[in-house]
Amino acid sequence: MTTNIEFQNRSIDMDAADFKASGYLLVDQISRFLEKLPTKPVTRAESPAEIRSFLGNESLPDEGAPATELMEHASELLFEHSLFNGHPRFWGYVTSSPAPIGALADMLAASVNANVGAFSLSPMATEIERQTVKWLAEFVGYPSTCEGLFVSGGNAANFIGFLTARKAMITRDIRKEGLFHTDPADNQELRGKYLVYCAKGTHTWIQKATDLFGLGTDCIRWIAQDQNGKLDCSALEDQIERDSAKGHYPFLVVANAGSVGTGVVDNLEAISGICQEHDLWFHVDGAYGAPAAGLPENAELFKGLALADSVALDPHKWFYSPIEAGCILVRQPKLLTDAFSYQPEYYNFDGDGEDFPVNFYDYGLQNSRGFKALKVWLSLQQAGRNGYIKMIREDIELAQALFKLCSDEPDIEAVTHNLSITNFRYKPKHLAHLCDESHFNRLNENLLNRLQSGGEVYPSNAIVDGKYCLRVCIVNFRTTLPDLEALLRIVLREGDKLSREMWPELASQN
Ligand SMILES: *Cc1c(COP(=O)(O)O)cnc(C)c1O
Repeated sequence: MTTNIEFQNRSIDMDAADFKASGYLLVDQISRFLEKLPTKPVTRAESPAEIRSFLGNESLPDEGAPATELMEHASELLFEHSLFNGHPRFWGYVTSSPAPIGALADMLAASVNANVGAFSLSPMATEIERQTVKWLAEFVGYPSTCEGLFVSGGNAANFIGFLTARKAMITRDIRKEGLFHTDPADNQELRGKYLVYCAKGTHTWIQKATDLFGLGTDCIRWIAQDQNGKLDCSALEDQIERDSAKGHYPFLVVANAGSVGTGVVDNLEAISGICQEHDLWFHVDGAYGAPAAGLPENAELFKGLALADSVALDPHKWFYSPIEAGCILVRQPKLLTDAFSYQPEYYNFDGDGEDFPVNFYDYGLQNSRGFKALKVWLSLQQAGRNGYIKMIREDIELAQALFKLCSDEPDIEAVTHNLSITNFRYKPKHLAHLCDESHFNRLNENLLNRLQSGGEVYPSNAIVDGKYCLRVCIVNFRTTLPDLEALLRIVLREGDKLSREMWPELASQN
């Protein structure tokens, strides 16, 4: 039998010369993009319809096209119609400027295409990931005897912590029986609920986790915050005792090391004590704030972090990694594998003795896994521990300086400052006796929308004690003090314009 396979028709391969030509061109364009970034608008805030019109709606092309041409088109679309979180004046949500070395790292990782699910499929990548996990633990002051892994972000990292806790703390065989199996001999439908405790300001991942992983959101006990915004420890203890007395099963406490809205760090040491006393899993959500634990001056603030059973980190936030990179640390490695390891017969990944391989599919939800750790491994080395300490410290100092600027400005109310998050609102003196809180909330909400679509600056929002605030979260090594001074000028200018538009009758009284 003869074959007539056309070996020339492997139309997505590239030879060395083609790859170089396209690659060098792309690198040139990216360098220019990075250089021009500060002079561009943060966003053009184009509507979905506008974006679709730039993209066009042709159907999937039947024939191929040259790589260089395609890359040029793709970079033009993205450089012209994106929101740039690498801009010095981007402070929205918790999204950092990405370290440029991360872009190079992602290209290297994709080129080798290690499958970091199993050691034998990714020998060097697996060990680089393990080393990166240890380095992150070391930086935030967590025992480096922990194990952990990279995941897509903070949500996913918290999910792994949650699932590890669920397996470790719930003694019934949930792997086999599921959560809500009832003993046929026992007619009682609900003998008690598995309960989770967290502060009111906890990120919405906890709702997703309790919902998706079978407990239901009713199992969350939202604990009040004290006057500093920290989880109220005596309220926590009372609630645990009341629930236990009713026959429920408290199993997990989630503490914030940098809450998402205001950057508050809970009293980790006290919460750890409560968890020990009541035999509960102590999970710390450090997705935003944990990197600040690496600063010597913050040792007291983060005391107790090292006592957590698990800590969620999010290197694509304050370690300045390009998205995606989250990371979970678990104190007792065996509990990770207890929760996630399955050994099907079609896997042949075991070793023996001391020199055993770590197979990351045993540690988490994923099977095949990309190499997210490389970009973090490289940026940690590029800046070094001291470089990171300096960048994180400067972000905190800038947020502090912004709070001071707000306090000094009569038409602005400074509301909170913790770590690198500052909340404030536009509250002009001349309207103070004419407007109530709901007016100021509407004014600031409209102002935020105007700022976010204006392209000059990009804060986000938070509601603090019923006040709608403009929220600036600086996880940005490109931001300088003049950027923040500009922010206040823009807030005052736009706030004044907006209040005149919203209440022309009030404006005329002045
Ligand atoms: C950002 C954040 C999350 C979610 O992280 P993603 O990377 O967006 O998935 C969870 N918790 C806190 C405290 C956060 O700041």
